[in-house]
This record gives sequence, C-alpha cells and structure tokens, in this order.
Amino acid sequence: MNLARVREDARRTSTENLLDRVTVYRAETEREAVDIFESELEARGVTSAEIEAHAAMREKDGFLRHEDGSVVRCNYCPRPATEHKWKWHRLWGWFLPMIPRYAHLCKEHDEQLPTDAYGRAMHYDMAQEVRHEDTAVE
Ligand SMILES: [Zn+2]
Repeated sequence: MNLARVREDARRTSTENLLDRVTVYRAETEREAVDIFESELEARGVTSAEIEAHAAMREKDGFLRHEDGSVVRCNYCPRPATEHKWKWHRLWGWFLPMIPRYAHLCKEHDEQLPTDAYGRAMHYDMAQEVRHEDTAVE
C-alpha cells in the first residue's frame, strides 16, 4: 500500500466519505489507511462523538452487503447502498439503446439520481466500483 497516496487521497476527499471509511468500510480497509483517515478527520476538527453519530446514522438507514461481507457501494457515489433497483442504463454512450440494469443506490441517490448538464441520469463508473458490482448478489 502506498501510504503517501492514501494520505493525499484522504486530504482531497469529502468529510462524509472519510466518515464512511472509518465506520461502514472500516472492516474492509487496511489498518494503516484507517489511521490516516482518522487523523485527517481529527485535523478537520471532527470529534469521535461525530464519528459515532455518523456510524449510528448509517446503521439506522441500513446498508447492503455482498456475500463475502463487504459493503455494497452506491453506483453513483462512494456511499453505502441501501437499495437495489432496476434502472434503465445506457451502456457506452447515448447512441445505443438503453438496457435495464440492476443498480445499487445509496439513500440520497435512491431519492434522486444524479444528472448531467442535459438532465440525463449519469452513471458512476469507477473501475473499483465495477468490480464490486460484478460480485454483487441478489
Ligand atoms: Zn449515491
């Protein structure tokens, strides 16, 4: 693991994402990385009470897990997915027909899908997220 890169990434990411990483994704994150995320949160003035409150909120909303116990990510953002739904999905571009596709959605995107400048729903396609999708169950 490249610790310098993890540190750099931690500095750039949102506080909400850091909170998810030290709570929801903690079990599947390397110890050294968790330490980095926790010190970044501390540097941002986030208290342990706030971290606990975030964990409690995610727990209350509920989130899905893959068969191997890893947490299912939303297709549109790094938040944990709380819903599985069939969505019309455009593969590779707008010129091809849409195909129905099983989507994992967080609470926020379950309510409203992100859209591009033309008001079309966007798909979040980070390589690592695709890997998670491929192993998804249900
Ligand atoms: Zn989302």
